[in-house]
Amino acid sequence: MRFEISKVLDAIEGRVCTDPSLARAVLDLAEVIRYQDLDGGRPASLLRLGMVIDALSRELEEDSVPVYAVVHRALLSDADLTSNERMVVRRWADDGLVEVLDNPGDRMLEVADLLGLPLLTRVRFDGLRGRFPWLVEQPGRVLAPVPGAGGPALLAHVGGGHTPVEGDRSPVGAKLLARQWRCTEPGCALFGGGGGGGAFADLARVDRAPAGQPPPTLRNGVPTCPRHGVRLGDGGPRPRTEVLAVRVGGLIRRRFVLTEEQPVLVGRAPDTSGGIMLGQWLNDEARRWISRSHIRLELRVGEVIVTDVSTNGSGIRPNGSMTESERLPLAPNQSRVLSGADMVELYPGVQIGRAGELPTGAPFTPTSVMAEAPTMAMRLPRS
Ligand SMILES: [Zn+2]
Repeated sequence: MRFEISKVLDAIEGRVCTDPSLARAVLDLAEVIRYQDLDGGRPASLLRLGMVIDALSRELEEDSVPVYAVVHRALLSDADLTSNERMVVRRWADDGLVEVLDNPGDRMLEVADLLGLPLLTRVRFDGLRGRFPWLVEQPGRVLAPVPGAGGPALLAHVGGGHTPVEGDRSPVGAKLLARQWRCTEPGCALFGGGGGGGAFADLARVDRAPAGQPPPTLRNGVPTCPRHGVRLGDGGPRPRTEVLAVRVGGLIRRRFVLTEEQPVLVGRAPDTSGGIMLGQWLNDEARRWISRSHIRLELRVGEVIVTDVSTNGSGIRPNGSMTESERLPLAPNQSRVLSGADMVELYPGVQIGRAGELPTGAPFTPTSVMAEAPTMAMRLPRS
């Protein structure tokens, strides 16, 4: 039983991140774990985060949707969580997967504002509508996770709809995210690279790519580390990135970030770290056709270059065209620039392209983050 819960928590771990290019909504973990009416279970449960992520995934009609979670420092020692859950949250905090801070209420709004993301919260920010006009102007920017017939659902505070809406990054957010930032606190999980911290500081610290840094918080207009409260140093322009996505059977299964620092291998099961594994979404035939590492993607001077490294070759669908006569072969060892809405196709129906350009809208049942132990979600032990 404990093992099953650990597996679910591991699955949820893959859906929390502070990367501005990947997070799809912002929430306050301390609030979400206390949505007792979602399951009628214990006063606090980390599994409710999984339920809310599933609700978001269903509404966005996309798999593997990550959320940006802010976490009040007090939660790390919250006695309503099990010791295992507290340990997991501490690990997420140490790894920079969640953002730990003293005043999560305001920060949640700030992150949503800077990144243009929807908020998942039951809190009504009526007094702050002047400061953040999108709270009322963009229905779907604030959604309350509520109990629903087929599991937790989302309900917009304004207008009553249920579709999450992404806005633009605010002008300040765009400015902050154009730079990389350095925290002077040794081993800072969010803005690392500050140096010092003893002989083992580097081992303890997550090697966070500057491209994935979260947005700093602003204190009197000064970019500040939300965790340590110290002024951040400007580390120069943030490296260029491109957000790509895997589409299998017409559905976006996961997004990933391509940087100029490191190529990314995509295939059935690439051995390299940072490789994108497709195996879990493929049928037997596709699994036989697609090589362990099938294509290599690189970002060079702002251009996405795809190289086939497979046994069987790939194809290019120019401008996302699904017309067979327009499909161009990409032979083993051949390279090509992937521009605009071009998709590279590893096998019929298995495509990679820019996340914002991929066609969507197929009827969809996302894979639950709780799927590995569905009965556990139903049977949360009562306290
Ligand atoms: Zn810091």
